[in-house]
Amino acid sequence: MAIKEYDVFVIGTGTAGKSVAYDCAAEGMKVAIADNREFGGTCSQRGCDPKKVLVGITEAMHLAACLEGKGIASVPKIDWTALQKFKSTFTDAIPFTTERDLNEAGITMYHQSPQFLDENTLSVEGKTVKAKKIVIATGQKPMELKIPGRDYLKISDDFLELPELPESIVFVGGGYIGMEFAHIAARCGAKVTIVEFGPRPLGPFDADIVSHLTKASEELGIKFIFNAKVSEVEKLQKNYRVSFQKNGKTQSVDARMVFNTAGRVPSIDDLDLEKGNVSFEKGGISVNEYLQNTTNKSVYSCGDVSASGSLPLTPTSSQEARIVSLNIRKGNHTKMDFPPVPSVVFTIPQVATIGLTEEEAKEKGYNYVVEYKSVPQWFNAKRINEKVYAYKTIVDKDRNIVLGAHIIASEAGEMINLFVLAMCGKLTCENIKAMIFAYPTWGNDIKGMV
Ligand SMILES: Cc1cc2nc3c(=O)[nH]c(=O)nc-3n(C[C@H](O)[C@H](O)[C@H](O)COP(=O)(O)OP(=O)(O)OC[C@H]3O[C@@H](n4cnc5c(N)ncnc54)[C@H](O)[C@@H]3O)c2cc1C
Repeated sequence: MAIKEYDVFVIGTGTAGKSVAYDCAAEGMKVAIADNREFGGTCSQRGCDPKKVLVGITEAMHLAACLEGKGIASVPKIDWTALQKFKSTFTDAIPFTTERDLNEAGITMYHQSPQFLDENTLSVEGKTVKAKKIVIATGQKPMELKIPGRDYLKISDDFLELPELPESIVFVGGGYIGMEFAHIAARCGAKVTIVEFGPRPLGPFDADIVSHLTKASEELGIKFIFNAKVSEVEKLQKNYRVSFQKNGKTQSVDARMVFNTAGRVPSIDDLDLEKGNVSFEKGGISVNEYLQNTTNKSVYSCGDVSASGSLPLTPTSSQEARIVSLNIRKGNHTKMDFPPVPSVVFTIPQVATIGLTEEEAKEKGYNYVVEYKSVPQWFNAKRINEKVYAYKTIVDKDRNIVLGAHIIASEAGEMINLFVLAMCGKLTCENIKAMIFAYPTWGNDIKGMV
């Protein structure tokens, strides 16, 4: 059988892979793409988008709860089945529309994990294919916990597809996915416990800001077990028992369902990277500043799977894809040089962050000033009777520019985007204060934060 030859072979049809494939095909290159799951990737089917649909309904409930007795007569009830049906209207068609669009762009599709045979050759669907450039954009998958009973653990995909909400849930891991799901589940009526290895949830986020969220989560009924290392999961008659080590003792908590939200790792196991001379590390495919593999120069990598050092998020995946497609099409001219990247936890209230934490500003030797305030008395929070609103800003004293902003607020996700503009535009605090924003909006409040 003749060996098929392509200019570019992309592995992974998520945000990153699709984008490179379309750009290269539009340039007239012969492009193929492969995925070993439903085409379309994580964000739209098993990540950001379906999650945000579930969060949306709980936002409506939370607002009603805040205003109960202040114009709202009673808090509405959740219909989980109807909510899942509504969510499906966003996710169900993605594989079909993705394949239709790739087909229209003239891109050849393979429905299996390719494996490297050598630097430019892959084996896929029983065929041998060659490509001048190979792009690895396979994303991440949940980290497997190497404990007895790990097969009883469910993952984020399962949570987003739950036909019924169990009456009790344990989340192993209090990262952003565990925290967001815990808030959804608790607001929809489940008894939720988070078992976390560290001393608090959301390790990379500002500790002071997170302390407000921890308290609000506890008030919602979420139980935290910190400094606990999960050691086993057992199946009981109705429940699962999660055992963990804490303070040198083995303890346990029971629940109807247990989710592994302990973190995500690069999806690279099925690719036979050694045969392709593709170097990799803990964070994924090893890349240089052009997002080209450090050992196989025909390989580029973008999105969550690349060990580029950027956060594994949808907007960074798109940006990395843009760099890879430029470098493949025009030669290595575009380096990865990212501006500050915002990150949002879609709990209620949201936690949003950008730039340096206080500790990082100190480590880097900046001459800085920190402003940390709890401001539930500000009008935006007060008018909806929201009790949690706080911010921390870190400002460079010499240049009067923002080095970092950390917010907990109903609309922190939108507010942080204004700090993106301020930081990328190198606006001084004076510049920000001199601007006129619409009132009364959450965005206008940033003038009081700098
Ligand atoms: C529950 C959850 C919530 C999230 N929420 C947010 C959010 O609110 N905001 C945000 O910015 N980010 C969020 N993310 C992260 C975001 O989804 C990812 O950063 C983004 O989808 C990464 O895109 P990607 O193209 O790199 O990888 P993916 O979209 O994961 O695509 C990789 C593709 O490669 C395929 N693949 C894997 N291995 C192979 C193989 N061996 N062969 C062939 N194909 C393979 C996969 O099936 C997948 O289709 C969330 C993630 C999860 C899991």
